[in-house]
This record gives sequence, C-alpha cells and structure tokens, in this order.
Amino acid sequence: MAEDRQRRTLITGGSGFLGSHLCDRLLAEGHQVLCLDNLITGVSTNVDHLLEHPDFIFRSHDVTEPIYLRDLLAGSTTGPADPRVDYVLHFASPASPKAYMRHPIHTLKVGALGTHNALGLAKAHDATFLLASSSEVYGDPEVNPQPESYSGNVSPIGPRSVYDEAKRFAEAMTSAYYHTHGLDVRIARIFNTYGPRMRVDDGRAVPTFMTQAIGGEPLTVYGDGSQTRSLCYVDDTVEGIFRLLTHGRSKDQEAEDDALVVNIGNPQEVTVLKIAEEVISATGSISSITFSPLPVDDPKTRRPDISLARRLLGWEPRIGRLDGLKRVAPYFQEAVRAAVKT
Ligand code: NAD
Ligand code: UDP
Repeated sequence: MAEDRQRRTLITGGSGFLGSHLCDRLLAEGHQVLCLDNLITGVSTNVDHLLEHPDFIFRSHDVTEPIYLRDLLAGSTTGPADPRVDYVLHFASPASPKAYMRHPIHTLKVGALGTHNALGLAKAHDATFLLASSSEVYGDPEVNPQPESYSGNVSPIGPRSVYDEAKRFAEAMTSAYYHTHGLDVRIARIFNTYGPRMRVDDGRAVPTFMTQAIGGEPLTVYGDGSQTRSLCYVDDTVEGIFRLLTHGRSKDQEAEDDALVVNIGNPQEVTVLKIAEEVISATGSISSITFSPLPVDDPKTRRPDISLARRLLGWEPRIGRLDGLKRVAPYFQEAVRAAVKT
C-alpha cells in the first residue's frame, strides 16, 4: 500500500448506527469512504450530512450479491479514480434481536454470502479486512467475563441462532482467508453499544427504554431484569474499532496471541433492571417499570474481558454509563419528537 496517497475504505452497512459513525471517523482521518448499504435496517438520514462531502460515496447495494468496485464506481466523478481499496469493513447485518428475528434468512445470508463477498473484494485488492463480529458468538456464556479464547455456548437452532451462527460462520470464513490467503484480517467482537442514530424502533434495550421513558410509557423489562449486559458508548466503540483497523500487526504479535479477534466493549457490567432505572433517571422521566417474560435463550450475563484490547491497542472505554446515557438522551428526545410528528 502506497504511504503517500489517500486511504480508500469500503464499508458495508455504512448507513447503519455504527457504520455511519465509522464513516464520520474515517472521513475525519482523511480516508475516501465508499459506503454500501441496502437500508434493510439502516436509514439514509444517518449519512445525509456526508452526501456533499468530496470524499464520500454512497451506493445502494445488497452485499449478499458480489461487490465489484469498478461497477460501484462507474460514472462516479467524486470518488476514487482508479478502482483500488485499502480497507474493507464488513458491518452489514441486522443487529438487534427484533431485526434479525424479522429477517432470519437475510441475517444468515449477509453473515455468510456477504462476508464471503466482502472478503473476496479485500483479497482482490490486498486490502486490510475488518469484520464486525459480536459478543453473541459467546451465546449464553458459562464464563464471566468472556475472554477471546472462550468458544461460547450457542444453540444452533434457537431463535437467536440466525445471528449467532451467522457471526460464527463469518469469523470462521475470515479466519480461513487469513490462514489460506494470508489476507490481513481483524475481527472485532463488539459488545452492546449505544448512542445517537439508533432507531427508536430498533428494539434493543437502550433505544426501547429511552423511547418509553421519554414518552412516559412503562419500561418493559424482560424477565426479572437480573440478566446483565455491559454497555459501551458509541464513541468508545468507534475508537476501539479504528485502532484495531489501523494497528500495525507485527510478526511477534501474531506469534504472541494470533490476535485476529479482539473484544471491543465496556467491562462495566450491570443488570438490565438497573439500566432501566438509570434511563428513567437520565431522562428525568416519571415512567414506571413493567416485567414481561424473558425471551428464549436471552443470555444471562455478558461482560467483555478487554485485556487484549488494552495490551494490543492501548484502548479502553472512557465514557461511563451514567455519562453516556445522559449524552444520548437529547438525541432520543429529538428522535421521539420526530417520530410522533410523522
Ligand atoms: P444497524 O442495523 O444500524 O446497521 C446495520 C446496517 O447493515 C444497516 O444500515 C443495514 O441496512 C445494513 N445491511 C444489512 N444487510 C445488508 C446487506 N445485505 N447489504 C447491504 N447492507 C446491509 O446495526 P448496528 O448496530 O450499526 O450494527 C452494525 C454491525 O455491528 C452489525 O454487523 C452488527 O452485527 C455489529 N454489532 C453491533 C453491535 C451493537 O451493539 N451496535 C454489537 C455487536 C455487533
Ligand atoms: N430487554 C428488555 N426490554 C426490552 C428490550 C431488551 O428487558 O424492551 C433486555 C433483553 O431481554 C436483554 C437485554 O435487555 O436481556 C439486552 O437486550 P438487547 O436487545 O439490547 O441486546 P442483546 O444483548 O440481548 O443482544
């Protein structure tokens, strides 16, 4: 890769919650960014502010279909003149349980075919490839916190399996491209992340609780709320992913830990009931809390061991949960207002 020219980065799922924040970050770092999305769960408004940026290109594309740079850039006057790419980030996938259970086959396809296509593109350009994997590869973990070496406890046919197994397959495919083709790959096992640009109807705990609290509705805690999660604010997650993407991998590091896979998350573990209470407090709401049955296979605990990220990337989250919930509340206040108007 030439050192003296601008980096070119293709990101699948770039109009989603995390993808759009990464587009912002990559552009701020001086990359040219090609954002692919079929908007199955993303919203175009997430990248509206980038459409006039000279280094940003959006293409509507379903990445379960092959990705040919030349076709995507045909007719483009603002983008890269020659069809090269330095980094490929594969973020396309329904991500909330509500979304992947609504699109079960698509979720499996984007994890399998989409990952294969994105890897094929990276290989054709000898680009660095980063997979957005998930803490869901650990399933309902029997060890807490979860280190990268833990191989997980996943049902292959349960309701969450379409997502969990898609991510596990995607990791296996990514690892195979590393071992077979020597492709420079990195796998981010991302733990629950929240922040601005999450959809109010996304279905995940933080956007649901925020929307309910702001609307004065009861917050719907599943089960008795004693299950735990570890919430990471989006700015911290983006920083971790960017460092993972760009860190120089030395031969020594490969030998040390074959560090293809890195947990990115906040190790501050908390019960879901406490999250609901904290959202009520962060929004100044008068809402109550109601309890409904726990969904099948809902993980009982989740907390990342981030020793590897600390050592390899010098990264750890900076934004605590109470601060993060307060930061994101105004976004949801505005988003709820906008949703009521339409
Ligand atoms: P999101 O739904 O906001 O973003 C996903 C994007 O992928 C959407 O814009 C969607 O339209 C797009 N997409 C889906 N299928 C596609 C296809 N076939 N072709 C092109 N685009 C497609 O979700 P998110 O929270 O931003 O998650 C982004 C990625 O990060 C996902 O791969 C997800 O599994 C992973 N991840 C997210 C979290 C989190 O807490 N947000 C945690 C773990 C992993
Ligand atoms: N949850 C809840 N009420 C909701 C949405 C989610 O109690 O309205 C719970 C869910 O059962 C899980 C936790 O919150 O235990 C986190 O759910 P989320 O969908 O955010 O992500 P997950 O970590 O389960 O993928």
